[in-house]
Amino acid sequence: MASPAPCGMLPAMSTVRAAPVPPVAPSDPPLGLPRSAGAAQPAVPGLIEARPNNQPVSALRDLRKNVEINVGKACNNRCVFCIDGLPKAEDRAYMPWPQMRAELDRWAAEGYRSVGFLGGEPTTYPQIGEAVAHARAIGFSRVAIATNATKLRLTHFTDRLLDAGLTRVTVSMHGHTAELEDKLTRVPGNFHKKCEALRYLVARRRADPTVLPDGLSVNIVLNGWNHAHLPQMLKFFYETIGVDDLRANYIRPEGYAEGDASLTPRYAEVVPNLIKAIVLAERHFKKVFTFGGFPMCVLPAPLRRDPELLSRTMGEYRDLSTACSVRSDGGDRVAPGKTFVDGSWVQHVKSSAVFFDEGEQRARFNWQDRKRFDLKGHPEACGACELFGVCEGVWKGYLDIWGAGGFQPVRLADTALAQR
Ligand code: SF4
Repeated sequence: MASPAPCGMLPAMSTVRAAPVPPVAPSDPPLGLPRSAGAAQPAVPGLIEARPNNQPVSALRDLRKNVEINVGKACNNRCVFCIDGLPKAEDRAYMPWPQMRAELDRWAAEGYRSVGFLGGEPTTYPQIGEAVAHARAIGFSRVAIATNATKLRLTHFTDRLLDAGLTRVTVSMHGHTAELEDKLTRVPGNFHKKCEALRYLVARRRADPTVLPDGLSVNIVLNGWNHAHLPQMLKFFYETIGVDDLRANYIRPEGYAEGDASLTPRYAEVVPNLIKAIVLAERHFKKVFTFGGFPMCVLPAPLRRDPELLSRTMGEYRDLSTACSVRSDGGDRVAPGKTFVDGSWVQHVKSSAVFFDEGEQRARFNWQDRKRFDLKGHPEACGACELFGVCEGVWKGYLDIWGAGGFQPVRLADTALAQR
């Protein structure tokens, strides 16, 4: 089962003006859409409660309450699309161990039983082994890392994490050749290191099916340099490497990729390759393949209308409802109840997605609402779309590059959401 998209930086302000869309607040009614699993979350002190219906209903979703903790933004790769870009020194600093312990204790006490460690690169966090072990000791049954896997080629290090109780690994890898992967991650020799790591994890799981009970998946950031190779990537990861769970997320054009049209293809260019991949995964490889970050209106009608195929392949149906905890100085935060007035894509929309803890210098928020209210925007067509209440919208960085064209209002009856 695929992990949610990693939590990201606080919002980058957009400069492109969108036509106003109807005001929406987290408590607005859901346009008659069914209630989601994420709606059941109680209020957590210091965390904005998830908006009801902020995810599509799905029997495939793991219902454990999930939190993703950012350990610091230091990284041993330099991906061309990294949303962190060049982080400030204080953002690169690792979370002090006492704070990490307290953070884990806090979420466990709130009933969270799934935790993911993010960076930067979580395997470079000096206390990652201790963090995994502590999470298991206090009751987290699902403990995951989202990693570039470069360090996991060191088998003694990987064994230590597995012995500490790690239950899931999501490997970020974006190319099926050394040329492509090393160019995207800007680390010569990285492809071979990552392949070594993946092969070791696959071998450990084959030798002992209790290893990583919550799965091993590869997460691909779909971008302008790799989307045409998606079918070949499926063949490489399923057959050559041996993983059986792939997730392809549309690029979020922030950080290094902000304003970069060559890395940010139009949805219309990517969707034909996405459909090829879905057909291959379903009919030929018969393995798990999911995608994320594509609004419904850019998907072909036969996929949009098919409840089984859509819920099997659209990652948002599987993503856990996720709280995030990220270091922040609060400087670029949108305070709850405040409204952007500078013509950004969230004009007229009250942002209530972030709670900022000044004492701890951390921001906490629900990831699905964060995307909806801060990181994505709704172009003009959304005002007439019957999915407006549930659709997260489009990354603001995409709208800044390509504008608001290419999005069409959708009728609820013309989607799988109405066919329940
Ligand atoms: S709300 Fe907007 S982006 Fe979402 S499906 Fe409708 S038209 Fe597309």
